[in-house]
Amino acid sequence: MIVTTQKPLDEVLGFIAPYTSVLIAGCDGCTQPPRGLREAKTLSQLLELAGRIQKKSFNFKVTTVAKQCDNYLAASILKPQMEGVSAVLSLACGIGVQTLAEVFPELPIFPAQNTHFMGAEEREAGILEERCAGCGDCLLAVTGGICPVARCSKGLLSGACGGSKEGKCELSPDRDCAWCLIYEQLKKQNKLHLLKESRPPRDYQLSGWRVTT
Ligand code: SF4
Ligand code: SF4
Repeated sequence: MIVTTQKPLDEVLGFIAPYTSVLIAGCDGCTQPPRGLREAKTLSQLLELAGRIQKKSFNFKVTTVAKQCDNYLAASILKPQMEGVSAVLSLACGIGVQTLAEVFPELPIFPAQNTHFMGAEEREAGILEERCAGCGDCLLAVTGGICPVARCSKGLLSGACGGSKEGKCELSPDRDCAWCLIYEQLKKQNKLHLLKESRPPRDYQLSGWRVTT
């Protein structure tokens, strides 16, 4: 899932202040917490109230898309709803916002969310933790299914730094040491020999650019 948080209401209000007819578009895809129709409606109500305080009234339309990052879906679902719309407020992650900006280049598209990372729920419910940093060279086959790039504070690829205390990261006692988790996991799988293999430095050219499918 892609973990996002709601931007401060004042910031969002500042984006849409020059416009009157605004489409608020949720996304039913992979953002977490959910950012679908219900959240879009709630945001419209909050913005309406906040706008009234500033003596500004908006004409909101509210909708949602199964996956805002899909050009075809975004175009087919949202195009029929664009009549009279002067700006769009997207509840999707940054990828969805950029997709809408491509599909509707004539309209200002504003993000209602800050996008943080690709993650999953921690063992304790309610805590979301980064699990993948999109490095482009997945190591999970040799690290017991635990990502050192996203989960080790230093992104170390060839074992622990030596600062871990009681299984916690030296940089934060709230955080498990990723390499301790990897060790325990490989031990359970009788694969500790994998820890003796050193890995080349990360190739940053493999992430953050583009790949063919
Ligand atoms: S090794 Fe790379 S691709 Fe695999 S989970 Fe970690 S960051 Fe993601
Ligand atoms: S203590 Fe563990 S998680 Fe923290 S930086 Fe060192 S190896 Fe990485």
